[in-house]
Amino acid sequence: MKKEFYSLPRIIPVILILILAGCAVTGPGGKTSLIFIGTEQEVSIGNEMDASIRAENRFLNDPLWQEYVDNIGRKIVNVCDRKDLTYHFAVIDSNMVNAFATPGGNIFLYTGLLKQMDSEAELAAVMSHEISHVVARHGIKRLQAAMGVSILEQLVFGNDPGALKVAVDVGLGLTFASYSRENENEADNFGIQYMTKAGYDPKGAITMFEKLASMSQGDPNFFEKLSMSHPETQERISNSKALIESLKPLPANLSTFSQKYRMMRSRLR
Ligand SMILES: [Zn+2]
Repeated sequence: MKKEFYSLPRIIPVILILILAGCAVTGPGGKTSLIFIGTEQEVSIGNEMDASIRAENRFLNDPLWQEYVDNIGRKIVNVCDRKDLTYHFAVIDSNMVNAFATPGGNIFLYTGLLKQMDSEAELAAVMSHEISHVVARHGIKRLQAAMGVSILEQLVFGNDPGALKVAVDVGLGLTFASYSRENENEADNFGIQYMTKAGYDPKGAITMFEKLASMSQGDPNFFEKLSMSHPETQERISNSKALIESLKPLPANLSTFSQKYRMMRSRLR
């Protein structure tokens, strides 16, 4: 039997990647994680993914809705723990009841989801959750894990232009893949804290979860694959309720902005 030893030349890139990796702040209270792909590269990957998503989808052509989601997004970003990139919000004109974030801070919402929301607080809960995935670098961590050392090495050292393309392709393939349960719990937790700080009634997160979970019947293309019959969904809802209790007393001026939301919703055919 042949024994394999890691030769020094093979292991040096791995060591260098570890040295170059930064400890990035990835959540409230100064929580940090080891990140290999820096923000600049993350944004390049995100931009390429965005171009590909834009080429393949029809986007809602309504400046008022764009301004509306930008405004909600800005309020949440202002209170979040990651501001080293510019967040972008876009609405895909499709009846899918879904939303997702790519690395680099690009957040996509489907009109099918917007039509199901009854208040701005419910939409803010979805957007806060997606922003939290970006803050916590869940997408980039998933990408790092899927890429393999040799491609990661080429990306980190920038000596192969093909590496960016590979990263983008792997990233696009992972767009609708599930995050780990731990990552989802983290995004729920951060999301509720951020939306509350941004002035939204966090009960919007509960009504959003409960409504979508009762509608989805386990549809995999549904937002967060929620389903009332999944124990994970039940757990996420009860964890979110407990978190809201722990945040009390809540600020007095929180709102759901239901009326304003319904006016905006009536613009969607
Ligand atoms: Zn999520």
